Amino acid sequence: MNQIPFVDLGLQYRSIKSEIDGAIQAVIDETAFINGKHVAQFEENFAEAIGARHSVGVANGTDAIYIAMRVLGIGRGDEVITVANSWISTSETISQTGATPVFVDINDCFTIDVSAIEAKITSATKAIIPVHLYGQPADLRELVALCEKHDLYLIEDCAQAHLAQYGDTTVGNFGIAGTFSFYPGKNLGAYGDAGAIVSNDDAFALECKKFARHGALKKHDHEIEGINSRLDGIQAAVLNVKLPYLANWTDARQENAQLYRKHLSSVTGITLPVVSGDRSHVYHLFVIRCADRQGLGQELKKAGIGTAVHYPTPLPLLPAYSYLGHDAAEFPVAVQYQSEIISLPMFAELTEAQIIRIAEVVSGFM
Ligand SMILES: *Cc1c(COP(=O)(O)O)cnc(C)c1O
Repeated sequence: MNQIPFVDLGLQYRSIKSEIDGAIQAVIDETAFINGKHVAQFEENFAEAIGARHSVGVANGTDAIYIAMRVLGIGRGDEVITVANSWISTSETISQTGATPVFVDINDCFTIDVSAIEAKITSATKAIIPVHLYGQPADLRELVALCEKHDLYLIEDCAQAHLAQYGDTTVGNFGIAGTFSFYPGKNLGAYGDAGAIVSNDDAFALECKKFARHGALKKHDHEIEGINSRLDGIQAAVLNVKLPYLANWTDARQENAQLYRKHLSSVTGITLPVVSGDRSHVYHLFVIRCADRQGLGQELKKAGIGTAVHYPTPLPLLPAYSYLGHDAAEFPVAVQYQSEIISLPMFAELTEAQIIRIAEVVSGFM
């Protein structure tokens, strides 16, 4: 029986193998390993793809969030509001700056429940970090208004939402910074770790670049202490090859999501992803809800179909945050969904025949 993996990065590589191999070889031939022309080119290309004035390449998507906050002066005594369901990078970096993460429950689109934010704003609040989780933009119009009203920074965690749009604008352009990850499995993935910060603020972007490069824009000119968080030349070269394909790969993900909807529409007992108005979902993940998530996962596994759970525990209830003393009752939606969510295979190269087979197994189980 043919296996259907949760994600297959090899298929994509083989479709562009000669271009990728050539680009990597060129970096080695040119010894352009660090801060070479490929990095500068990618920064320019990525800013253009997002429609932002600047893009600063960094070592990974986690650093991108951390650097943005550090450059904004966020630190000890400050509070930063973020969402209860995300990858730990979003909250871990808040703690790394010395600030305290303040968690807010999710809505039925798996993004931050904007109506619950205002009650959590205090005089110590400095920023809000929404996550465009699974590829769907959070409620950006309301978030921008809230940040303006309370004089807070908006940092969009776009790690799962490359090229997603809210209205006519690509995510990453709504606040002071949009942070991106190019972890291999992301919609735009490098062949190792990589990330970027995009911004439309000239001074902020320059400070991010400086902070990520030991506080020096020129060699040995350390105006401040920073960190070492560089995008390396080989990753930049890989990303330069892949970026022109991203729009097509995104279309393919969206078509696959439509096929899932078509073939799962008559199945009772599952909830398909809800997409809010005025925005596009880029389906980094296709997450459905089902009361017997575990049983469904086992059934799909028996059929050779890979699944995953993003994420098994809401951030505030992880052992890492036990010191904050949170109670499950504070995050009713996130807690309920955590036991119901299951991510089905999703990648551009998935075929309709594979989606039909997955749908048959889901339907048979339900
Ligand atoms: C992947 C991811 C990150 C971090 O990216 P890395 O490149 O792995 O450091 C941050 N936030 C979210 C929501 C992510 O999915």
